[in-house]
Parts: sequence; structure tokens; C-alpha cells
Amino acid sequence: MADTKYIFVTGGVVSSLGKGIIASSIGKLLQARGYKVTIQKFDPYINVDPGTLNPYEHGECFVTVDGHEADLDLGHYERFLNIQTTRENNVTTGRIYQNVIMKERRGDYLGKTVQVIPHITDEIKRNVKQLGVKNRFDFVITEIGGTVGDIESLPFLESVRQLRGELGRNCYCIHLTYVPYIAAAGELKTKPTQHSVKELQSLGIQPDMLVLRTEHKLNKDILRKVALFCNVEQDAVMQSVDASSIYEVPILMREQGMDEVLLRKMNIPVGNKPAMQSWMNFLEKRKKATKHVRIKLVGKYAELPDAYKSIRESLAQSAVYFDHKLVLDVCHSEKITEENVTELLHDADGIVIAPGFGQRGIEGKFTALKYARENDVPTFGICLGMQCMVIEFARNVLGLADANSAEMDPQSEHKVIDLMEEQKHITNMGATMRLGAYSCKLKKGSLAYKAYGKGLVQERHRHRYEFNNAYKKEFESAGMMCTGINPDSDLVEVVEMPSKRWYLGTQFHPEYNSTVVSPNPLFMSFIEAATQTKEIKKNNK
Ligand code: GLN
Repeated sequence: MADTKYIFVTGGVVSSLGKGIIASSIGKLLQARGYKVTIQKFDPYINVDPGTLNPYEHGECFVTVDGHEADLDLGHYERFLNIQTTRENNVTTGRIYQNVIMKERRGDYLGKTVQVIPHITDEIKRNVKQLGVKNRFDFVITEIGGTVGDIESLPFLESVRQLRGELGRNCYCIHLTYVPYIAAAGELKTKPTQHSVKELQSLGIQPDMLVLRTEHKLNKDILRKVALFCNVEQDAVMQSVDASSIYEVPILMREQGMDEVLLRKMNIPVGNKPAMQSWMNFLEKRKKATKHVRIKLVGKYAELPDAYKSIRESLAQSAVYFDHKLVLDVCHSEKITEENVTELLHDADGIVIAPGFGQRGIEGKFTALKYARENDVPTFGICLGMQCMVIEFARNVLGLADANSAEMDPQSEHKVIDLMEEQKHITNMGATMRLGAYSCKLKKGSLAYKAYGKGLVQERHRHRYEFNNAYKKEFESAGMMCTGINPDSDLVEVVEMPSKRWYLGTQFHPEYNSTVVSPNPLFMSFIEAATQTKEIKKNNK
């Protein structure tokens, strides 16, 4: 396409309506038509990135290949579009201000007073347009975090207003709102939507399209009414009814012609409806799956559905490809004890030990791992989960009773997990972990090698501590093998126990690299083993 087109997605009425899913869905539909698409998120908070936020504040922290700690919506973008995002795809208010202040200190503003308008808004606009430089993409979709009316998101919306003027037809605005159902009156109410659009209009932005989130199907009259009151063309009022899976949303949007309406308005030839074959296959398989595979996820954020978002999605995606539905039980690691571990885990087809930081809940992870190892349940340890596998093995197999990670006990005599050399002098917490994609060489014949079908892979990291190579020989001669090594630093990235059915830990996070049409090979292999275990258990009964 001659010019990059910019689509903005804003939200109104309440938060948590799923702007990220709507942005991903329109992206998916355009991509299916052969366009190069990327999605970016602006977050209105002051943190420079979400890396220092805990999961209670922010859910999972996603990591991009270039080592940026990012909002979890980037995970949705990658899973839907099967693309890789970078630090350009997630920008916060903090980062915008940091850049502007850096420029000011450098003297770039030549004596001018630095102000929200134009300096902050210019920096926001630069970050939007950067993704369109050299026509890298046909469409850049920008999701504005927060809800219209928030003080924090005003500079972003002002930038959208300015860009609308500058870009003309190459700009399109989608506003997502909510239509509540008042049970007592038996009515669906459009007033909050009308108010939200008014609020947006008062900021100088007239949306081109509205997407109404609703729990009940909206009839034509309601859609017509919204179009009339909000100045939006009738065919550009979509409804997004609760779906059985977020992956159904692009199809629900396609049925209402979302992509066609947008293309027509932007003066782009509409062409044929794309088939979206691989996506449809996935949805079809998902619907047809009747068997269940039960996975226990052991972590300390059991009550937070967003804390292990990418792991959940990776497991669910992989299960579909083996014609199973995922049943995921999240076990609170603080609540696992020697006394209740059998009761909690006996019906597991597979166990995942979650990533994390700090001492809280760690003993429960060791207890779960001892059970998993002794009962030969397929077990997948991710990051801290892998480190826990190593510690449990050191304590219970190697007999090093005080073995630990330097993170939990710096005084331990047997720090089988230790702080990486280059981490020892770091004092700032933000963006200083070992982050992003690194190479990993896999041992021929190992489980990991078989899963990937190749000897060199790239996976993403987010950690400060690492397997202590001084113990490598001892571990290997007792049966825990180091099967994945970083070829440049010699750091251990994968451990496994070949004597077990499927017992493997990764220092990296394979869940960040798992998409709907291309699930991560380790998750696939793990789920396959779990489904087989299920059959074995059934036959032994
Ligand atoms: N806390 C561990 C470390 O920093 C593991 C981190 C993680 O699980 N992401 O090495």
C-alpha cells in the first residue's frame, strides 16, 4: 500500500471490556486479507514499563524478543497475529516523559518552554508514526489504554485528535463501549454509550466505528438508535456479544463486516472475504474436542486469572491440537503441604510449576515437585519453576539439605541457583534482568531436541538467577541432565530427567512464543505427554 494507515482503538464506559481483543481481531481480519499489520499499545501510567509492577497491579508482564517488559495485551497481539512485537509496540506515559525530559536536558528544545502540548503530544505522535516508517506495515493499530474521561489518557487522545487532522483518510477511530442489561427492567441501555461518545467528541474525536460490548444480543433498533445518537454510520455499529472464547471474536466481527466497513471508509478496495483457514481449523477443532486433559498450575498468584496469562493460553492452544479441552486447576503454592499434596495433585495429567520471584509459596513448589518426580507425572518447570526443580533435586536426590537459590537464601552453602555474574553490581530494578530472546543449543536425543525438531532455538528470558555450573557434573551423574545451553555464555537453559516420562524445566519462558496457529513445541510436547499419561492411568485402573 502506498501509505501506512493508522487505526486507533479507544474504550469508554468501563475498563476491562477487551480493547486488546478488539484491536487484535481487526488486526487479524486485515492480516487475513494479505496486509502487513502491527498493533501497539499506549499505557497511561507513569511507570516507564510494567517490569517493576507486581501481578496484583498489572497481571502478567509480557516480554518481547528485543527484551522489553510489556503489557500483557502484547501477548494477545502476538497470539492472534502470529507476529513478534518489540519495544516500539508498547509505550507508557512514563517513557514519553522520560524521552522528552532527556531531550530537554540535551538542549534539543533550544530555549523553549517544554509543555504537554506540543512537546508531549509530539513525542506520542512520533511513537505512533515510527511504526509506519519506511512502510514497514500497511496498518498500524494503536490501542489507547484506560477509559475515555480519565485524566491520565488526555494527552494520548489529544494526539489522536491531531493525527486525525494530519492523516486524513489514512486514519480510522474505533471506540469500544458497553451496553448494560438492567435485569429489573429487562432492558438494554445505550445511554452510557451515548455519554462516552459525547465525551470523546468533546475532545475533538468523532469515532468512525463503535463496538458495543454486551452480554445479550442487541437488536437492529438498538444499533440504529446508537448510530443516530452518536453520528456513526449504521453499518459501522458492531456488537461484541460474550463469546465462548476470545478466539471467536474475529469471526464474530467478520460476520458483521467490520473489516469491509473499515476498508470502504478508508478508500481501500474491499475484495473477497478471506477464508482464514488455519484459524477456522483451530476453532473447529476446539469446538469438537470432547476429551479433557487436566493440568495443575502451581503458583502463588492462584486467584489472579491474568497472572499466568500466556501459560494458560499456551496450554489451552496446545490441548486443542491434541483434540482435548484443557481443564486447568490453579493450585496455590502457599497452600500445598506434605499432608495435602496427594489429594491436590493425584488427578493431574500434567503439572506446571510457575515462574515468579521471592520466597513466598516456594516451599509448596518443592513439595509439588517431589510428588511429581516420585510419581512420574509429566512436569514442566518454567523459569523459577525450573530453578525449583533444580533445588528440589539437590535437596532430595543429591542430599544437599540446605540447597537453595541465592535469591531465597544468600547464606546457603549450596547455592545451586546463583546470581549471574553480570547481575552482581546492578542496583536499579527497572529493565535490568536478563531479558529477551537468547539462543539455546539443545542436546541431540534430549526431550527438548525432539520437541523442537532442531538443535538451536531462540526463546525469551526474564530472570537474574541461573543454574550454578559448579554443580553440573553432580546433577548429571545423578540423572538430571542439562540439555539446553546458551552457546555464548554457557548458561544452562534447559534441564530434564530422561528417566521420567516428561520432566523438564526451562530457564526461558516458552509461553511468550506460542501463538494460536503455531503453539510452542515444548507446550505441545508436554500436553501430548499429559494426554498419554491420562490414557495410561485409565488403563491401569
Ligand atoms: N526469580 C527468578 C530469577 O530472577 C525467576 C524469575 C522468573 O521466574 N521469571 O531468576
